[in-house]
Formats: sequence, C-alpha cells, structure tokens
Amino acid sequence: MNSRIWISPPDMTGEELKYIQNSLSENWVSSVGPNIDEFENVLQGYLGNKSEVVALNSGTSAIHLALIQLGVEHGDEVICQSFTFSASANPILYMGAIPVFVDSEKDTWNICPQLLEEAIKDRILKGNKPKAIIAVHLYGMPYKIDEVHSVAKKYDIPIIEDAAEALGSKYKGKKCGTFGDIGILSFNGNKIITTSAGGALICKSKEIKNKIIHLATQAKDDAPHYQHSKIGYNYRISNVLSGIGLAQMKVIDDRVASRRKNYNFYFSHLNKLSNISFLEELESFYTNRWMTCILTESYDFRENLRLTLENNNIESKPLWKPLHEQPIFSEFPSYINGVSSTLFKKGLCLPSGSNLSIRELETILLTINNIIKI
Ligand SMILES: *Cc1c(COP(=O)(O)O)cnc(C)c1O
Repeated sequence: MNSRIWISPPDMTGEELKYIQNSLSENWVSSVGPNIDEFENVLQGYLGNKSEVVALNSGTSAIHLALIQLGVEHGDEVICQSFTFSASANPILYMGAIPVFVDSEKDTWNICPQLLEEAIKDRILKGNKPKAIIAVHLYGMPYKIDEVHSVAKKYDIPIIEDAAEALGSKYKGKKCGTFGDIGILSFNGNKIITTSAGGALICKSKEIKNKIIHLATQAKDDAPHYQHSKIGYNYRISNVLSGIGLAQMKVIDDRVASRRKNYNFYFSHLNKLSNISFLEELESFYTNRWMTCILTESYDFRENLRLTLENNNIESKPLWKPLHEQPIFSEFPSYINGVSSTLFKKGLCLPSGSNLSIRELETILLTINNIIKI
C-alpha cells in the first residue's frame, strides 16, 4: 500500500524555520513585530491595485471584521453565495444577522449574477435591503466579477470578496482579493500558502486598515490604562506565524504553477472520458487551481470513484455541500436554481497539493482508469 496521498497538505519550504528562530531569538513572539509589518507589505506588493492588507489569525475572523466595518448589525440581512465552505457564512451568524443564500451559475460554479439580482429585488420588496454581499472565488476560480459587481453597484450594496481559496488567481490581469469593497484571504494549512493558521483582510485605505487593526487587538483606546469604548477582538496574527508566511510568499508563484500543473495533468488524461468533465477557464479568467475538481455523470459513479480512491489510501472529497442544505443554515431565506445541489451530488475534489509528485499523480490516474475500465 502506498503512503497516504492527501487532498491538499501543507507544503513547507524549509526557510520557515529561519524566520521562526529569528522571532524567538529577538523575542518578537506575539501580536507585534517586524514580520507582521513585512508580511503585510509583501502581500500588498503581490496583490497590487492599491490594496491595504491587515494580517489576522484566520480568514473567518477577517470576514467577521469585514461585516463589522461595513456596519452590519443584529437583524440585518447579508447575501452569501450558497456554494461555499461554512466559514464564509458563520460570521453573519456571529453578528446576529441573517444570511440569505444565492445559488451558483454553471460557468464558474460561483454566485449567479441574475439570481443575485432577483434575490436583491425580492428582499427589497420585503423591506429588507441586504447590507452586504459575500461572493466567493471557490476552488480558486474567480466569480463573474464584472456581472456580480455591476449588480451590487446598481443597488449600492458593498461586496466582501472571499478570496480564501484564490490567492494568485486573477481576473483581467488583476489579483483576486482586490476587487471587493473588502477582500479576505486564508492561510490555513490546506490553502495555497499557509502560516499554519492565519488570514488577512484587504481594504482600500490606511484609515480602514488602522481601524481593523484596532478592532483586532482588543479595541484599546489611547490611554495609559486599559480603556475600551468598543467591543474588541483578539484576531491579530502573531509575529511567529507571519514569519512562516514570509517564507511561503517567496514561493507563491511556484505554488500556483504546481497546482495548475496538477490540473493540466488530470485534464489531459481524463477530459476525453464521457463521464468526467472539468471546470475550464473563461476568457480573462486565471485560476490558481487550488483544487482540481471533476464533475461526474452520477452520484453513484462519484461515490464509486471516491471509495475506490480511499481503498487505495488516496484522499478525495465531494465538492462543498451548499449552505442552504446545511442543518445550521437551512431555515434562512435562499434563492436556488439547483446548480450547487447537482455539483455537490456529482462532483469530486482530487488530490491537488503543490507537493504532489509525478509518481503520486500517476498512482491516482491508474486507480481512476481501473475503475473506468470495469
Ligand atoms: C478556508 C476558507 C475560509 C476560512 O478561512 P480560515 O482561515 O480557515 O478561517 C473562508 N472561506 C472559504 C471559501 C474558505 O475556503
């Protein structure tokens, strides 16, 4: 039996240790220090588009602070793409706000602009104009940015751009994460780069950046004693973890290239099969291919594939279960066209790590081919 092939394991460079050691020997181990500032600068330089970046302890906390910054309050409605990981929507519940889920379109698997407009019109008719829209570049594939943003602009609703899975993805040459009123990134262990745990909020001004840092570090007022006039959060990244991020950002281009290479390998061998299809890039879209996902002909076929891979010690996962079908979210309003439900039933994420070897890729391919021959 081969050793287990994971779906998206961390991929360390070895340089991380140098940064960790420096943090420890200089005694910058907590929520201030030179690595944090440098990590933010490196991210700003990489993202371009006049971004201001705040490094935080997770992508989830970045979404939470984004909602606060946009003035979302208890009882407000927030639209969220249904086809995503639960972390996109959980912060809406932290706020005591109401998620309203919108289904996907078939070209990018992300929020459907037409359905988004229908949902907004209907919520306005019901007297609840949504306070924000959370749109997601799922699996690294950009959502239809022009269409989605023009709907948001028409109704004057700000966008939180969940780019947790999309660092390195681009639309019309510009980096994902920089299109929304606020963008967010994740550096969790399974993401394209990792700080072990971490995230970032991307905003448009130094002023907002400073407000976010204030909230993320317990909202201490300017006084010699501990003085607070707002709810504070303990959401800042540490200097140690920022050091890991600095080492990882040095190889971000290689990481994107490796993941795209994985996709091309699977695509070139499997796309000719009639029972498997891939999510291809539209013109002007560039995905980091965080995950290579396939759509199969049926639930049974997908399950056979998944279980056979598992029996060969190869991890794969069904695509995200849409949030409107999750027990915790099912009671909330949703605007559904069936796309995400079908993707969940028939889709599969294949091993996609940037450290997959060609031998591992060939083992996976052989296993898949064996099933198809049966
Ligand atoms: C991972 C992820 C998040 C949350 O990021 P964490 O750093 O794990 O909190 C949010 N949205 C999406 C789409 C994600 O994949």
